[in-house]
Amino acid sequence: MYPADHTRNGLKAIAGLLTGKKRFILLTHVNPDGDALGSLIALGQGLTALGKKATMFCEDGVPSLYEFLPGSQAVTALPGGPEDYEAAVLLDCNSLKRAGEQALAMADVPVLAVLDHHIPDGPLPESAVVDEKISATGELVYHLLLTLKAEITPEMATNLFVAISTDTGSFSYENTTAEVMAVCGDLVRKGARPWKIFQDLHLNRPPQRLRLLGLSLKDVEFFSEGRIGALTVTKEMMSRTVTTAIDTDGFVEYPRFVRGVELSLLFRETDNGGCKVSLRSKGRFNAAVLARSFGGGGHVNAAGFTAQGPIEAIKKEVIETAGRLMPGSENSQ
Ligand code: AMP
Ligand code: MN
Ligand code: MN
Repeated sequence: MYPADHTRNGLKAIAGLLTGKKRFILLTHVNPDGDALGSLIALGQGLTALGKKATMFCEDGVPSLYEFLPGSQAVTALPGGPEDYEAAVLLDCNSLKRAGEQALAMADVPVLAVLDHHIPDGPLPESAVVDEKISATGELVYHLLLTLKAEITPEMATNLFVAISTDTGSFSYENTTAEVMAVCGDLVRKGARPWKIFQDLHLNRPPQRLRLLGLSLKDVEFFSEGRIGALTVTKEMMSRTVTTAIDTDGFVEYPRFVRGVELSLLFRETDNGGCKVSLRSKGRFNAAVLARSFGGGGHVNAAGFTAQGPIEAIKKEVIETAGRLMPGSENSQ
């Protein structure tokens, strides 16, 4: 049975909760990706069509890459106060902390429902559906909308298709199951256009992004007999090419292209004296375990974290830890 019984029952309970209330705040994680924003906007559109008031909140707003999502202009970075809402729904993350500083003020909103597929950060509220077997939060929103008997419009179908496409690495990660394809097939029937979405996501980047990629690729590094591949993006490289963080989206895919690479890493220097690390793995290497050991999280094949300190020191520590965790090495799990 897919989704699993506990997920189906949880979605039914959340549908009941949503039906009984009128004013919602929907929240997603900082540094949003396609799943965060696609899920947020599709659910917001569904609730609005059902006559509800739904505020779509993302602390970092909508990066330019995702402005093509239909309805993205409705996303706000100003949530108002907890008194404005009867219930909060947390999407693609399971703690308010991941939704940013302003989101923490929403801890006082009475009912908090959670729709997510990450390993829980801590205790979950009763109305939480957190299913690590689900490819993307967008898949949960799809099933929830069906449970609510909300019509999935072409706009909502597009947002959900982007959500799933992002979190499956354009249907290339091991979470790309028959069920995922069935959901996406239905979304295409409902108006999502895969070729157009691929163009908007991947074939519409600014030229300076390619220059930054060139600089980064030139110095690609391999460790652990070629089982780890890493790219680095420094602040200096970004200022030289006049690029910003969003331009590095997708860079972590490149070391994956190489034969024998099981773990692909992207180290990006941040403005506040730290480093954002993205991890992608093929096969058995558990990227989430590595990310969690540095205070981050994610999934088996895609994870991330941010750390404070000089980029070279962080890199050294991550590569060493990754080498120890490699399947087949002495300390691997
Ligand atoms: P990214 O490398 O940002 O593309 O993230 C890959 C995956 O790791 C996504 O599922 C994120 O939600 C998760 N992730 C990234 N950064 C963090 C973090 N700081 N804490 C928890 N999960 C994270
Ligand atoms: Mn996400
Ligand atoms: Mn996700």
